[in-house]
Amino acid sequence: MEMASIILITVPHAIQTIASGDETAVRAAKILKQSLQKVAKNIVLYAFIGDEARDICDLNRIECRAKPFRRRIRNTLNMIQTTTTDPALLFDIHSFPAEAFNSLEIYFLSEQGHSQQQWVIELARFLSQKGVTLAAKPGGSNDVITEAIHKFGAFATLIEFNDMLEFERVQTICTWIAHWVQQWFFSHLSANARCNLM
Ligand SMILES: [Zn+2]
Repeated sequence: MEMASIILITVPHAIQTIASGDETAVRAAKILKQSLQKVAKNIVLYAFIGDEARDICDLNRIECRAKPFRRRIRNTLNMIQTTTTDPALLFDIHSFPAEAFNSLEIYFLSEQGHSQQQWVIELARFLSQKGVTLAAKPGGSNDVITEAIHKFGAFATLIEFNDMLEFERVQTICTWIAHWVQQWFFSHLSANARCNLM
């Protein structure tokens, strides 16, 4: 029997306070989840929405690894590792405020000190060909993806969505991501190098 492929969607900065919070990350994550459910076949999806404000404990930092949000993600990655041979795919969803709409629509961030995983470069190229204005940048201490990659051998990236994007545009971008995942990611797993510094 062919095992289902497992996708995790995480939103560490979901809580809004005056000082912090990713305004549209939860909405973007929901749209991505729906798009993947619609387009990608034979997948199991897990979504994890952060439940602590960033100015109290930044759930994307190593200092907050013991928090329930992080434990739930870790338990799921652990379950995947012990029950399937396929590595997990994790999208860590964030959003950024942009003054002008003519800036980037989305950008990918790598883990600190590492280059983008090869599959992220391929996904970014695909989206860029579809007309998405994007960038792939070196990230800071993004501990959700760092732990997923280094403890569990996952394929993981951080995606930032522009807060100014219209609902329909987020939907369009997420549908393309879902199509790419369906057509390319799971069928070319062995060709997707994980981390060149593992
Ligand atoms: Zn964030």
